[in-house]
Amino acid sequence: MLIIDCPWCTGPAATDQALATLVCEDCGVSVDVAPDGPGDVLVLVAAA
Ligand SMILES: [Zn+2]
Repeated sequence: MLIIDCPWCTGPAATDQALATLVCEDCGVSVDVAPDGPGDVLVLVAAA
């Protein structure tokens, strides 16, 4: 698991090696990220 800044709150979010899923315990969200690679996640973080 990798830890990144959650796009929806200030807490940490965990993602797997393939960045296919994103889970934030603070928000209680579990998101399936499009399997295009890390680009989508980085866009979400940048937009937050
Ligand atoms: Zn969160």
